[in-house]
Amino acid sequence: MEGRCHCGAVRVTTPGPPPNVTECRCSICRRYGALWAYYPVDAVAIEGATETYVWGRRHLAFHRCEVCGCVVAWLPRGAYPECGINARMLEGFDAFAAERIVEEDASI
Ligand SMILES: [Zn+2]
Repeated sequence: MEGRCHCGAVRVTTPGPPPNVTECRCSICRRYGALWAYYPVDAVAIEGATETYVWGRRHLAFHRCEVCGCVVAWLPRGAYPECGINARMLEGFDAFAAERIVEEDASI
């Protein structure tokens, strides 16, 4: 699937539609309002300039378009094999119709 931020400066390509999306209720994801689609890191492509935000355990970085600010992905900072693509950026993917997994841990 193809996706992009609002202004189009950042583009993402995934190997296909995700079988489900995750609504994470941690302190950062609930603020972003992201719906995460998980893929192997080496299966996705992210093109364009992003800024990152790293916090807490510092094991992943949130990437946002440096022009329009849309959060397009989180990528691991270590050897973790998966990443999260913000399904709201994917063209033609109905994130509201997809199976939604809710991560209830609001403690982080
Ligand atoms: Zn943008």
